[in-house]
Order: sequence, then C-alpha cells, then structure tokens
Amino acid sequence: MSEILLSLDNLNKSFGALRATQDVSLDLRAGEIHALIGPNGAGKSTLIGQIAGNLRPDTGSIQLVGQELTSMSVAQRARLGLGRSFQVSSLAEPLSVMRNVMVAVQALQGHSFRFWKPVNHDRSLLEPAYEALERMQLTHRAWTPVSELSHGERRQVEVACALALKPRALLLDEPMAGLGPEGSAHLTELLETLKLEVPILLIEHDMEAVFRLADRISVLVAGAVIAHGDSATIRQDPRVREAYLGD
Ligand code: ADP
Ligand code: MG
Repeated sequence: MSEILLSLDNLNKSFGALRATQDVSLDLRAGEIHALIGPNGAGKSTLIGQIAGNLRPDTGSIQLVGQELTSMSVAQRARLGLGRSFQVSSLAEPLSVMRNVMVAVQALQGHSFRFWKPVNHDRSLLEPAYEALERMQLTHRAWTPVSELSHGERRQVEVACALALKPRALLLDEPMAGLGPEGSAHLTELLETLKLEVPILLIEHDMEAVFRLADRISVLVAGAVIAHGDSATIRQDPRVREAYLGD
C-alpha cells in the first residue's frame, strides 16, 4: 500500500439544521488521484473548505503526512504542504504568468507584506515558479500577460501557483469547469503525469475526465460518502447510477 499523505477522519460540519458533512473519512495516497463526486449541494466544496482551512469542522480531524491540521490557519496548512488551486479571480490580469506564480509563492511563504511591492526576481522565487510552469507545459507563456491567455491556460496557471509551493498533496475543485473538450483533454493529460509526483484530491463534474483519471472515487450524497471504489466499480454501482448518473 502506498503512503497515506492526507487523511480525513470522521469529519462533521453542520450549517444550522443542515448536516453538510456527515462522518466523512477518506484518505489520499502517494501516486493517486482520488476523485470526489456527487450532485450539486452534496457538500463537496464544504469538505474542501474544511481541508484547506477556510471552514472549521464541528468534529473530526484532518492530517497531512501525520501532522494534525485541524486547528491550523489556511496559510499554515499551505506552508506544511497542502496545495490548493487558486481561483481564476486571484490571478492579476496585467501581470505576466511568471509574476503571478512568483507572487503566489511570496504571499504564501509568509512575506505577504511584500505583496504589493515589485516581486523580487531572486532565484529562490524564479526557480520554483519556472519548475511549476514546466510541469504545466506553460514555459512558452511565462512572460505573457495573463489577460492574453485562454481559459484553459489560466487553469494551468492556477495549478502552477499551487505547485510552486511544492505541495505534498493537491486539492482541485472542478478544474475542468468551463473548459471545452480540447482544454479538458489537455488538462487531463497534465494531471495524469502530475499525480505521480503529487497526489490529487479531485472534485470534478466532468465524468469522462473522472473515469479516466481517478484511481479511486468516493461518492458524496447529502454530506455522506455512499460509495467508494475504483472507476469500474463506481460506474456500475446502482446507488451511484441512481443518485448521480441519472439512471
Ligand atoms: P457542493 O460543492 O457539493 O455543490 P456545497 O458544499 O457547496 O455542495 O454545499 C453543501 C450544502 O451546504 C448545500 O445545501 C449548501 O446550500 C449548504 N451550505 C454551504 N455553505 C453554507 C454556508 N456557509 N451556510 C449555510 N449553508 C451552506
Ligand atoms: Mg461545489
């Protein structure tokens, strides 16, 4: 069995009477993509929020490489190696791709006071940023302003921003959303290679991408995991077909 990098143990989170997360336990192991699927409102984003630190679970625990994250801030979790794709809106349009990635590294390295000053071009920032762009096949766009990128390329920059911090585990919330078939096929290929270095907890509605990419799938319905297994198993599970695939 591969090493467990991220582990969720009996997470519960309610909003008033609504149990948005119910006793969710799952893990993410080296070398894999573990996909989390479920209908709208199932609690996927609420779960990601608890892992990244934007939301505090009511009970339960979250561990990254054996370290207890549950009461840490978003920034502390990021520094410990929890990577999360940035939202499109967080990219600075007029700045180059490279500067965006460098700013992301600087901000999360804890130098946020320098955020609005010119990025210092020292190698400690350039090297990880360049490496991250290489892994996302974007070095030819390094000095292009983000405003000139396609939607798919922006998604790649968001992943590069997370990668530049050298995460141990990566959370991606619907990275294929809004991409056409070509963009999503390209990102699928990139993620297939990337997972070998950084395991990915993937929330995705594009079922073609999920069935192709995921080593394991957990199905979330009304806040609870109702099924778990490899792609072939989940594809055939009658409860999954009924609850999610619309049979
Ligand atoms: P998904 O990402 O699977 O579509 P969400 O995690 O966004 O689902 O939402 C799960 C449930 O929790 C939904 O019923 C949603 O309305 C509710 N919810 C999410 N965030 C809040 C919040 N901050 N306050 C109250 N209810 C919320
Ligand atoms: Mg969501």
